[in-house]
Amino acid sequence: MSLYCENVSLDALAEQFGTPLYVYSQAALTEAYQSYTAAFSGLNPLLCYAVKANGNLSILRHFARLGSGFDIVSGGELARVLAAGGRADKTIFSGVGKSRAEMVYALEAGIKCFNVESLPELDQLNEAAAGLGTVAPVSLRINPDVDAQTHPYISTGLKANKFGIAMEDAEAAYRHAASLPHLRITGIDCHIGSQLTNLAPLVEACERMLALVDRLAAQGIELEHIDLGGGISIVYHDETPPDLPAYAQALRQLLGGRKLSLILEPGRSLVGNAGLLLTRVERVKRNGDKHFVIADAAMNDLMRPALYQAYHHIDNTNPQPGAPFTADIVGPVCETGDFLAQNRRIAAQAGDLLVVHSAGAYAASMASNYNTRARAAEVLVNGSEFRLVRAREQITDMLAGELACL
Ligand SMILES: *Cc1c(COP(=O)(O)O)cnc(C)c1O
Repeated sequence: MSLYCENVSLDALAEQFGTPLYVYSQAALTEAYQSYTAAFSGLNPLLCYAVKANGNLSILRHFARLGSGFDIVSGGELARVLAAGGRADKTIFSGVGKSRAEMVYALEAGIKCFNVESLPELDQLNEAAAGLGTVAPVSLRINPDVDAQTHPYISTGLKANKFGIAMEDAEAAYRHAASLPHLRITGIDCHIGSQLTNLAPLVEACERMLALVDRLAAQGIELEHIDLGGGISIVYHDETPPDLPAYAQALRQLLGGRKLSLILEPGRSLVGNAGLLLTRVERVKRNGDKHFVIADAAMNDLMRPALYQAYHHIDNTNPQPGAPFTADIVGPVCETGDFLAQNRRIAAQAGDLLVVHSAGAYAASMASNYNTRARAAEVLVNGSEFRLVRAREQITDMLAGELACL
């Protein structure tokens, strides 16, 4: 068995670029994007790709060329979008902790809107805009208090979460925003969680938001857009993702006859299954009855298993004859939480090349230098062509900026 990304052999890529190595498929990125534009046709949503899922400049440029906008959560991500040729006027700024410097940077760049998450943030944004003699476009992130039925660490739409403004405080927050001279209210947004497999909470969130839109209209506060966030799941294991056309149809019914334009902020569902992580087996080890396949990729390359107990499918590109056994597939990092998979049936031996699937989202973008491990290289495949889109980090990169001054 030899495995391919589009027309390119994974073994050949590992040979040329080394491991660990992220490999992305341009065709899969395009297909995921177009599945949204096709499903939501007629609604003409502005798709604001959530940069934090994967901020590689080539991926951002590809989405920008497809017409995408961007959802950012830091000034650093805005710099990425601009460096990749993305449009500021299609970029929205989410997150609970925007700093004054980030507000100023985004105002100067001319972003489409700030998704504001609290009353103090409204005041600070008003001041920042006043300082520049300008007006900040704002949407309020409302917490619709629906249970997204996902892992607690990626559930964001419940009252107990730090995100958004509580529904019962929403009208007062809008009235406050309307009273501030350097803010211009443009919309409303929510984002109830990630890796959502059920449509019902997404539709319910929309219904609650629209009821609020009507209450605001009755008070003379008219909104231009509604932004329903991201959160659509992908298949890692045996999940059934929500049907996009069914989601779109539900929104058509809810939004029909309204003048509101629609924004969506998909992240994972645009990139998750367009990427994989290649890792070489260093050795196989036994502790008593327990087997460990020790790979050269670790939690610093793919944090999801450690952080969310996430499942990633793992294949051996070239299993040698020999019985499969049950093993934990682990990395070299000195943490018990450092595993890519637990209790997995696999046939593997030293030197084998493993493919960790569905590693396009929240993988490279969450990578760290823990254990002074260099961040992995990234390759983008397009048909029979491929390109290094991020060089493997070097020791000198990691030590740059540090001083041994004593
Ligand atoms: C992370 C995030 C997204 C993207 O979520 P996915 O589950 O990757 O689609 C969208 N909006 C906001 C505000 C986010 O924080």
